[in-house]
Amino acid sequence: MKVLVPVKRVIDYNVRPRVKADGSGVDLANVKMSMNPFDEIAVEEAIRLKEKGHAEEIIAVSIGPAKAQETLRTALAMGADRAILVETDDAVEPLAVAKILKAIVDEEQPGLVVMGKQAIDDDSNQTGQMLAALTGRPQGTFASKVEIEGEKVTVVREVDGGLETVSLSLPAIVTTDLRLNEPRYASLPNIMKAKKKPLDVKPAADFGVDLTPRLKVLKVSEPPVRQAGVQVGSVDELVAKLKVLGFVA
Ligand code: AMP
Repeated sequence: MKVLVPVKRVIDYNVRPRVKADGSGVDLANVKMSMNPFDEIAVEEAIRLKEKGHAEEIIAVSIGPAKAQETLRTALAMGADRAILVETDDAVEPLAVAKILKAIVDEEQPGLVVMGKQAIDDDSNQTGQMLAALTGRPQGTFASKVEIEGEKVTVVREVDGGLETVSLSLPAIVTTDLRLNEPRYASLPNIMKAKKKPLDVKPAADFGVDLTPRLKVLKVSEPPVRQAGVQVGSVDELVAKLKVLGFVA
């Protein structure tokens, strides 16, 4: 079976985002961009499924600017077989991404779509669920374990206060949580090899999906600055302060 892995180019998770002076968004000028960390986990999982003999081909897909080719090359260097860039310079919201992914799913017919649970730039946590709804495929979200047996995939999900295990019929959609695996680094020879792997570029306009935003960002603001701490001289003093703050009765 084929495994489709959508990967998004986002601000690198090590970068401390700077909010633009006018509060209209995050400043992306000269900022390091990388693959969304949950998508790296998705690529890794797809590779492991291939290594176990469950998958024959891994296709990475990104919807974004020409520079998202770098993100796709990273996926290829990790072990994906080919890549598709759906090129657009516009910001694309989860519903539009899901609609474009649906068109790709219809064309490629992957047995499994493995994608991130959330993109760390918009924190939407919507695209996988919307893709499942649009394709009518079952979904296993927030996966911390994925196991394929015959026509079924068992997904252990991280839910509030514990784990939930669900069994889905293939074809299915799985979204990854942090503990699913530890993504591999691409080796230098694999980075070189990835340059020769196929990467198709298709204009987003070809998909006939309305990309007009449905949301308007009114304001983005920095989190409140943390107050400096104080050193206490004794446990009694600490308890007294906690009482004042209401943490201790
Ligand atoms: P979100 O719903 O925006 O939090 O994103 C959830 C997941 O959908 C991401 O981890 C990606 O796997 C996928 N995704 C979202 N936007 C894109 C995009 N522009 N290109 C490729 N995949 C995307």
